[in-house]
Order: sequence, then structure tokens, then C-alpha cells
Amino acid sequence: MPELPDLTVVAEELVRRAAGHTVIEASVPTPILLRATPDEVSALAGATIGETRRRGKFLLVPFERADGQGRVLAANAMLAGRFWLVPTGERVRARTGLRLRLEDGQDLRYVDREMLGKLYLVAPDRLDDIPGWTEMGPDADDPALTLEQFRERIRRHPGELKPLLRNSHFVAGIGNAYSDEILWEARLAPFRRRSTLKPDDIDRLYHAMRTVLADAIEQVRVLVPPDIQTQHREFLKVHLRGGEPCPRCGRELRQIGGREATTFCRGCQPPL
Ligand SMILES: [Zn+2]
Repeated sequence: MPELPDLTVVAEELVRRAAGHTVIEASVPTPILLRATPDEVSALAGATIGETRRRGKFLLVPFERADGQGRVLAANAMLAGRFWLVPTGERVRARTGLRLRLEDGQDLRYVDREMLGKLYLVAPDRLDDIPGWTEMGPDADDPALTLEQFRERIRRHPGELKPLLRNSHFVAGIGNAYSDEILWEARLAPFRRRSTLKPDDIDRLYHAMRTVLADAIEQVRVLVPPDIQTQHREFLKVHLRGGEPCPRCGRELRQIGGREATTFCRGCQPPL
């Protein structure tokens, strides 16, 4: 599942390689992913792609028009959705939810083999219409989210730490993989409850969240471009490394759960 670092870098690449280009044809090869009428889709032709940005787990691709009828494509890729930027002639894969032919010979496509992604096409001032949008907390890497505000916010969000970090109402952009990495960095067990945290623990959690995400963005920037559809996680320290030695204390990492696995170290992430 793409998370904040992955999506940040995809947005950067789309700014670099798609912004300023004009859509000459828009189509929906697999018509179940995009919440938009056929007329709304074909009206993307003639629009110019603006500067893509990320908000939470959404990528926001603007389509600008001189007549003021611009739209924003808001894509939450969920498990397996990916944007592709490929030559127009490249074979269209199964489960392509959107295909945009650009004037420079590229296609911007959204492909989703699990078909769980959610795509919305809205007016730029109607992002609030997207389900869950207004409830979203600040981005986990938002410079405006100070330690003070983090302390304040976490007080309002009870429960275990791993689901807490993944809860976009608390902070947005963190999923299964980076929550493991952040909790390991903070030396906090994933099943600990927020109510057991001391002020020091909360501060460590905040700093771990910032460091892990910033470092990951640096890594992903090196590894991913130009193939924005790929996901690189080989630099993660604990997530999905169950059975390997903890990089900090050497104790064997524990992993529980299947597809949504949680990996942690019982040595340096004690239950309490
Ligand atoms: Zn350890």
C-alpha cells in the first residue's frame, strides 16, 4: 500500500514530467474505479495538467482549463493502485481505471490490480465532497504539526499505538509499513495503549514519526524514479523482517498477522 513517502515521490515525479502537458484524450478502460460520468471524463481533453500534490494518502492531480471548468483527480490507491507514466504505444494493462493521452507522446494511467482504489473527479473547490476528506487530520510530515500540537492531538485519540498511527483522523499518510518503522524507531510496542504513554514516550513518538518519514522520502527519491509504478521498501528496518535479528538489539524480530502483518522487537519495544 503506498504511504506518505511513496506518494510524495510520485507527486514530485508527476510535477517534473507531467505538469504543463495537455490531455488530448481521456478514457476509462475499466469503468468501476473512477467516480465520474463519461461526459466528465471526456471533458478532461484539452485540459493542462497542473502540479500534482499529496494529501494524506491521496494524490491530487489538477486539470486546468482556461474556461474555469478545471477539475482535480483525487486518487486514493488503497492496496495496489499505481500511476504509470508510459509511452502512449505501451500495451494497456488489465484494470486500467483511467488513461490520459498527453500531447507529448506519454500516457498518464491509473492501474489497480486489486481494484480497491478510489478515484474522484471534483472541482478544485469541492475537495470536501470526497468521503472522509474533512475528517482528515494533518499530514504526518506537515511542518505546521508541531510537537505541541501532536501532544494535544494524541490526547484525543485513545487505543493501541499501531492503529492510532494509521488513523487518518489523527495524522494522515501513515499505513501498515511505516507505522511499524516509526514504532520501532520510537522503541514503543505496537500494542501499547496511548493511555500508558509518558510525556517522554509521546515526544519520542513524534520525533520518530518525523525522522522515519523524512529518511524514507530520501531513500524513495533515489530508488523509484523514473518508474513511478514501482514501490521500494527494501530499506525498511523491521517491517516484514520477522525472524531476522533486530538491527538495534539483535533479538529476533516478531511478526504477527498475514497480509497486514505487524513486525516488532520484544527486546527494544517492551510491552510496557
Ligand atoms: Zn530490538
